[in-house]
Amino acid sequence: MGENVTADEVPGKQVSGNLEQVRHAIARACADFGRDPAEVDLVCVSKTFEAEAILPALRAGQRVFGENRVQEAAGKWPALREQFPDVELHLIGPLQSNKAEQAVDLFDVIQTVDRLKIAAAIAEQCQKKNKVVPCFIQVNTGAESQKAGVSVEDLPALVNACRHDLGLKIEGLMCIPPFDRPVAPHFALLHRLAHDLGLQKLSMGMSADFEQAIQLGATHVRVGSAIFGSR
Ligand SMILES: *Cc1c(COP(=O)(O)O)cnc(C)c1O
Repeated sequence: MGENVTADEVPGKQVSGNLEQVRHAIARACADFGRDPAEVDLVCVSKTFEAEAILPALRAGQRVFGENRVQEAAGKWPALREQFPDVELHLIGPLQSNKAEQAVDLFDVIQTVDRLKIAAAIAEQCQKKNKVVPCFIQVNTGAESQKAGVSVEDLPALVNACRHDLGLKIEGLMCIPPFDRPVAPHFALLHRLAHDLGLQKLSMGMSADFEQAIQLGATHVRVGSAIFGSR
């Protein structure tokens, strides 16, 4: 970083520089692990950051973003989308049924379907609005009592109900491994589960471990702090 930049230039340059580094790391991981880079999407996680911090990433060509709160996304993305209509916004945080309508309006992909009730609410809104919102099922691979996600045991029935009873477009699986455990077994488990269910997409890996996730088959890595800095 140069020394003569003004204060308001610094954050933007940092964000675009960080983004560049993350893209390089993804490309390198793809090369190292024999993955086709076209099959790995970077979901740039902009939660807690204002539009002003997000703009440098958009200007650098990033188009896929993740937010974890419906309300927060509603506050900043409609205006950003006017400038960048080809943005693809993913919901990566828990959803409540009473926010399903807003979520279907705002998001292009919902990664956090984890129970029948929320799946039904999304399906109903999609039907009403004649809109297709591809979804991922979030799996609680670590069987953590406080964590969102369907259990491994209940996953097949949920996928089945989404596909056949609700007509929801289920594209893949998503997980957030326990933060204090090695991640590889969780990524490998998610990969196997998706394979068994005939699902193509795997959302796994964050700033600290996206390379490992790519090695184990991730098609979507969700990276926040490595791009925007700590929250
Ligand atoms: C915040 C968040 C991320 C990004 O985490 P970083 O460690 O900042 O990269 C990824 N996935 C989910 C579900 C998150 O809530």
